[in-house]
Amino acid sequence: MARTVLVGGTVVPVDANRRVLDPGAVAVDGDTVVAVGPREQVLADHPDAERIDLADHVLLPGLVDSHGHAGHSLTKDLVDGAGNDWLDLVKEIYFEGSGTEFWRAESRLAALERLRAGVTTSLSYVGSMPRVDDPKFAAAATTGYREFGLRHVVAVGPPDGLPVHATDPDTGTETTIDLDRAMATTEAVVDELDGAENGRLSVAVAPSSLVPETDDDGQATAASVEQIRAVLELATAEDLPIHAHAYEGEVAAAADAEPEILTDRLSLAHCAGISSEEVALMAEHGVAASTGPLTHAYAWDRFPVVVAMEQGVTVAVSTDGSAPDRSFDLLSQGRIAAQLQRAHHGDTSLLPAGRVLESMTVDAAAALGLADEVGSLAPGKRADVIAVDRRSAKLGPHLDAGLTVPRLVHYADGGDVSFVMVDGDVRLRNGAVVAPEAPPIETVLEDAAAAAETAIDRVGAADALEPHPDLWGAVRYGE
Ligand SMILES: [Zn+2]
Repeated sequence: MARTVLVGGTVVPVDANRRVLDPGAVAVDGDTVVAVGPREQVLADHPDAERIDLADHVLLPGLVDSHGHAGHSLTKDLVDGAGNDWLDLVKEIYFEGSGTEFWRAESRLAALERLRAGVTTSLSYVGSMPRVDDPKFAAAATTGYREFGLRHVVAVGPPDGLPVHATDPDTGTETTIDLDRAMATTEAVVDELDGAENGRLSVAVAPSSLVPETDDDGQATAASVEQIRAVLELATAEDLPIHAHAYEGEVAAAADAEPEILTDRLSLAHCAGISSEEVALMAEHGVAASTGPLTHAYAWDRFPVVVAMEQGVTVAVSTDGSAPDRSFDLLSQGRIAAQLQRAHHGDTSLLPAGRVLESMTVDAAAALGLADEVGSLAPGKRADVIAVDRRSAKLGPHLDAGLTVPRLVHYADGGDVSFVMVDGDVRLRNGAVVAPEAPPIETVLEDAAAAAETAIDRVGAADALEPHPDLWGAVRYGE
């Protein structure tokens, strides 16, 4: 007998038959969906369940953000417009200036933002690239996700440029991270976090890059080959997903170095500049892609999204949030991804709205190896449900249920999400956060500001908070 029935409204479960139920309802027992169907039928089948009224709402599976970064919520807008200077600065902040309080405070801000945007499952690297001198940083970076009750994939593995120096400001300890140290810390994070919080926390073995170094011929160096094999060995032994950034030539180099790394447990972020041969390799081996339409990488080079989809690659749209110039508002990223493709190809027929919604739900879940648990509303899946309030000028008028999906994809953003349930627990109701274990928003913001200032001060980067001299009137920064 279901404990709760979410009474729609329109239900878009993104299930196998891609139904749109109007009106529909979703029945939940504990942490699991037990029925999705026409409203009157679900209510008749579950007469004693508590009812949550979501009329005038569109119910969807919780959104899945398959690529982002912890830390970034405290480094937004630093050295605005500076590209690689920003990456260098945040690396210094994350590896030399951040203690556990930084990661704890940041995770609360990030989790709260994702919750309010309807993102119930997310992946974040612990840093721009993983901070792996000590597993305590990854643990601290899950604080907000635990307190706000969200599902989260912690991405840890070797950072680029090994050996990497790190300073722990909590203890003054200095560490040189080599491959052995990075893998040992990753294993410790797996032992501590994978499967915690009723399975809401999990771990991806996630080197910053698939191939961190290539030689002049574009071949993986010996160090890269050793890293690829270490990552593959751990992920296989622990049955974990593998996640990595990948750019031009790296898929081919990885395939040459260790063909086994191209597996359906692998998802690659950005994929900017990769060739059609590399897309074909991804399709052949079931490697998924995670494309963030507002990333630096996309400004510099493009991922052939349409070609990849046509060849059968699972393509997820992600935020790569939440810095230096983008938020965790995944819902708005879908249409931006589609519009970029339409502009590039000069073809407005590309990327139908349903396909865009799939890329943020069921396909994103598949990219993270979570397709059996989340990404759609179906009996047996985890009860991660969001609802968009359509009583607004922007989302109106409501003409016919058939227009629900294009209306959402073209016009809605995270701010329209008014209800969120994760694992059967309501976490947002009428737009108000329900998280008794989490601090109030004022405290989250104050702690975040204090932690950011402390870390920025520690690396002597207070100048990065100053507005850029070219902020006004110039055509480009740095003229
Ligand atoms: Zn990234």
